[in-house]
Amino acid sequence: MSIISPLAQSLTPYVPGEQPRTDIPWIKLNTNENPYPPSPAVQPAIEQAIAHLPLYPEPTSRIVRQAVARRHGLTEQQVFIGNGSDDVLALCFPAFFQGQELPVRLADITYSFYQVYAALFGVPAETCPLDDAFQMPVDAFCQGPCAGVLLTNPNAPTGLSLPLCAIERVLQAQPDCLVLVDEAYVEFGAQSAVGLIDRYPNLLVVRTLSKSHGLAGLRVGYAMGQPPLIQALTSIKDSFNSYPVDRLAQAGAAAALADDAYTQHCCRKITHTRAWFTQALRERGFDVLDSMANFVFARPADGDAVGLQAYLRSKGILVRHFDAPRIADRLRISIGTDCHMQALVEALDAR
Ligand SMILES: *Cc1c(COP(=O)(O)O)cnc(C)c1O
Repeated sequence: MSIISPLAQSLTPYVPGEQPRTDIPWIKLNTNENPYPPSPAVQPAIEQAIAHLPLYPEPTSRIVRQAVARRHGLTEQQVFIGNGSDDVLALCFPAFFQGQELPVRLADITYSFYQVYAALFGVPAETCPLDDAFQMPVDAFCQGPCAGVLLTNPNAPTGLSLPLCAIERVLQAQPDCLVLVDEAYVEFGAQSAVGLIDRYPNLLVVRTLSKSHGLAGLRVGYAMGQPPLIQALTSIKDSFNSYPVDRLAQAGAAAALADDAYTQHCCRKITHTRAWFTQALRERGFDVLDSMANFVFARPADGDAVGLQAYLRSKGILVRHFDAPRIADRLRISIGTDCHMQALVEALDAR
């Protein structure tokens, strides 16, 4: 008998990218944050909300749901708001997968938090390998019954995207289970599945303000789907934490979502930087996958990703390495400003 539960003892938690001390001027390209500040509309909105902090926030984040609905041409009843998309993803496990007896299906190389949630909620997981070109195993996702499919588009850490027709193929092959499309990086060039929501009652699209809106520190994410899916998520939320999104976060998120022109402007700058940086790496012998995200997944010519990561760190540049089968010879490098990426290229040339 132990004070600590068998579950807590058994968990292998997710390890987030390093958040270093901010008093050293790191060039931080290890957690896919946006190098640009959030919309100028965010600060006054948050300041105004301060006066209302004695009161609990609106439990369903109504002003954020309205802003999401307006942005995507949906109704408020088709939107769920969470404390970051990680919170939304976690709630999906009890809402859709727990107790289904079948496994959730996901790629072997994808966002590693899904496996952590599966273990936490006691949901079996079935991994399907990406092919040799790191493409999503769409056929495997379609074959046979499962409790749900977890699909990241574009995928992380590869950055490769799927066309909508591939996602539709999965939606049609698995009409009785939830197909979750995690679109954390979709604003950097991939096709969104949001337009399919009215046709597929089994589709849930999850997004975050952390990458495209420069608000990783505010912790707001959202899910979009038909009302029964949103109701299931709400009922799980209200059985766990009624107020996951605070007043400051609601005010800031609503303001950021309303300023779509600013978001598009920042995302365009990042995709422009990504294009020349990809080319610069390829000219230096790297194998770089065609990224549709705000990062690239690159293999140095000698395959010594760990050595290169340590070297870049010595130059004040942080990048991410995953010590996992098939990808240990690669680094995931977030796209910063032109200036950040130039500094990285200069460091490569000085090695
Ligand atoms: C960053 C990321 C998330 C988490 O986003 P938060 O909203 O910051 O919790 C979810 N899914 C993927 C694929 C991500 O890369």
